[in-house]
Amino acid sequence: MHTHIDNGYTIWNIADRFLVRCPNCTKMAVVQPEGGGRARFSCTRCGKSSGWQDRHEGSVLYATNLDHFENGRVSIGAPVDWYFHFPLWLQTECCGEVLWAYNQNHLDWLRDFVRAGLRKRLCDPTHGWSNQSLASRLPKWLKSAKNRSAVEKALDRLYTTIA
Ligand SMILES: [Zn+2]
Repeated sequence: MHTHIDNGYTIWNIADRFLVRCPNCTKMAVVQPEGGGRARFSCTRCGKSSGWQDRHEGSVLYATNLDHFENGRVSIGAPVDWYFHFPLWLQTECCGEVLWAYNQNHLDWLRDFVRAGLRKRLCDPTHGWSNQSLASRLPKWLKSAKNRSAVEKALDRLYTTIA
């Protein structure tokens, strides 16, 4: 039995790279933050590449509804990358919802989480409890024990798309 330790690992730690569906050729492409309010999209399949610049001075929007996302603003909470808002490559239907991940590290983290029979939380000694921790932000359906095998199967499907 695994033990999952929620040590305050946040979405910011994991979102260093986004696998997205290229809007030009529909294959898997990458969005990567570059620091200084910039990010870059690049697709090795069709060669499309573009830059992104923050136009809202570091203000971040949290929303699950894509309609609220704005061009030029870092927007978090829907199955798209934070910058260009291109659809994530890693998404699949599960339990009537959409299970999604930004990249393989995120998938690995989710798999560890759902496999954990016993869930422990460790309080970060410096920052205390953070509502930005990945575990605290997971939707209820994903944490529910009765959905565990369905979620594991959905994660397996996502792994095959990047194998
Ligand atoms: Zn492409």
